[in-house]
Amino acid sequence: MTTPFPLTPRIATRYISAPTMVRLVQTVGVAQSIRDIAQRVRADFCRWSDFDKTARVANHSDVGVIELMPIADTVRYSFKYVNGHPKNTRDGLPTVMAFGVLADVRTGAPLLLSELTLTTALRTAAMSALAAQALARPDSRVMALIGNGAQAEFQALAFQHLLGITELRLFDTDPAATDKLVANLHDSGLVLTRCTSTAEAVRGADIVTTVTADKTNATILTPEMIEPGMHINAVGGDCPGKTELHADVLRMGRVFVEYAPQTRIEGDIQQLPPDFPVTELWEVLTQRAPGRQSAQDVTVFDSVGFALEDYSALCFVYETAQRLGLGETLDLIPTLDDPKDLFGTLRARRAALRRAA
Ligand code: NAD
Repeated sequence: MTTPFPLTPRIATRYISAPTMVRLVQTVGVAQSIRDIAQRVRADFCRWSDFDKTARVANHSDVGVIELMPIADTVRYSFKYVNGHPKNTRDGLPTVMAFGVLADVRTGAPLLLSELTLTTALRTAAMSALAAQALARPDSRVMALIGNGAQAEFQALAFQHLLGITELRLFDTDPAATDKLVANLHDSGLVLTRCTSTAEAVRGADIVTTVTADKTNATILTPEMIEPGMHINAVGGDCPGKTELHADVLRMGRVFVEYAPQTRIEGDIQQLPPDFPVTELWEVLTQRAPGRQSAQDVTVFDSVGFALEDYSALCFVYETAQRLGLGETLDLIPTLDDPKDLFGTLRARRAALRRAA
């Protein structure tokens, strides 16, 4: 016989749906949400050695990728499920879709099940801005934004509010994507200039953000476009066989990455030898390594998206949802009078059905 438990513990998992996430971000504000996530990402990157890290697990197909991104410290565990299917938009589906879980390491109980599609855009923008704070020239005011799809407005607002960018030079091969961005940001206070090519958008920019989607080794940026002092925020090359920068662009300055073992597989640096020197951002954020060293330096953030950013974002969502009283409670895990009697939950259901018959 097993010992009966005086109080049956119930695991209440908080559930944040996509509409609830919209309410959460509208309540906090987009810029403030990006700021809050950036602050958490910085704090978590500064305690890098606390985390049990691994490159994400990817399952590839001809048209895209589906990935799982786990990470843990001694208190919380998280994972994100995320895809990347550049042709999805033709069928009316987003290129990137995601959800994730935050769990209690002590018991393994899931604390939060949350949408992460909108949250991924916020955390990617937060990460880009955080990297640029360390790597771009402090007097940067003009950013070229190449690729004006789902992530683009978030990048724009992060650079406006966290870096002081005042003007965007826009280019997308799909003019409708730029129309959408201009309509969404018309009252943002940013000067929005439409360009007819990447080269035109990049000319004279302080920061260049590439956030395009195409499952190919694209060369969005080529060496002749790069000017001394530029910071390149390369977001869209994030998967084997999917890059945005000509390999020589990476040789024009120092390259900074989130987690080198993952970026060497997925980032633009996949085009270079495995010993090509890179600096992990946590080293810069903790002042173990220098960031930008002169106004003439070319700096490259070869962003792919790392699980720690989603951990930080999930903690933001969990704590903000609790504070605002948002979300529902899910019975994801059975409540058991005797934790060894899982079968008993079926017997109880059978008895209830018999009684109802
Ligand atoms: P999206 O499909 O909504 O938008 C991509 C845009 O790029 C489209 O408007 C498309 O027309 C444009 N584009 C494609 N090729 C182009 C080219 N050669 N020149 C200019 N524009 C071009 O996708 P999204 O959700 O905005 O994601 C953009 C990219 O960012 C994807 O590749 C995605 O995998 C990546 N991403 C990276 C991270 C990260 O952490 N690094 C996070 C999220 C998404």
